[in-house]
Amino acid sequence: RLGFEDIRHGYGQGDVVKGVSLSAAPGEVLCLLGPSGSGKSTLLRIAAGLEQPHHGRLLIDGVEVTGPSTFLPPERRGIGLMFQDFALFPHMTVADNVAFGLQRLPRASRQAAVGEALARVGLSGYRDKYPHMLSGGEQQRVALARAVAPRPSVLLMDEPFSGLDSRLKDQVRAETLAVLRETGATVMIVTHDPGEAMGVADRIALLKDGHLVQTGTPRALFSRPESLFAASFFSEIN
Ligand code: ATP
Ligand code: MG
Repeated sequence: RLGFEDIRHGYGQGDVVKGVSLSAAPGEVLCLLGPSGSGKSTLLRIAAGLEQPHHGRLLIDGVEVTGPSTFLPPERRGIGLMFQDFALFPHMTVADNVAFGLQRLPRASRQAAVGEALARVGLSGYRDKYPHMLSGGEQQRVALARAVAPRPSVLLMDEPFSGLDSRLKDQVRAETLAVLRETGATVMIVTHDPGEAMGVADRIALLKDGHLVQTGTPRALFSRPESLFAASFFSEIN
């Protein structure tokens, strides 16, 4: 479970996140949707522990992790991270890439966890390959395996599909969703694409200029927008 309570943050000249309160439950896929510069990645980086907010509290599974004396660094938050360019390590095999977040496990259980994560994404035969030998879609699945291998309770994904060409996108999205559902984790996906949010989210949080303007099911946002902004944002869906 993930909870933002009146989070404010900026980078010097004024806040870019201006008082956001939002929560996501285990098993839920929450999409943070909004135009470029609206503060989506900043919120995700705060959840990840890569930024410490100026104001407000962040709770992970009910525990505050952002207080001056309670700040928990990224590696201790029990979160999985996935970014736009997936950033696999080019000099490491698929298996070593997936094992990257599992260094604290004993060798045998690490290998078992790698095997299990690769099986989940349908890449069991790929352990010893290097990233450059894989297609874009396969690389994305390795990145997904790496993110879920430590069994995080929260998964944070920043534009995870935007590096893929449009022919691949729908398929990879569907496969990714199926894997995410199986984990039962709390999932937050950042996207600027309303069509993508409609396709993957249980709930959408629509952000504009650092403020949440509307939160609800995809259907509710699409058919009952509460502002001109929400209406025009969703009218772009093709
Ligand atoms: P996009 O869809 O383009 O990725 P976003 O919604 O993810 O946009 P953020 O990356 O959160 O937006 O950025 C919000 C604002 O904060 C932008 O105006 C951006 O220029 C600014 N910003 C983000 N990161 C930094 C930084 N490290 N230093 C200074 N300004 C930053
Ligand atoms: Mg961003």
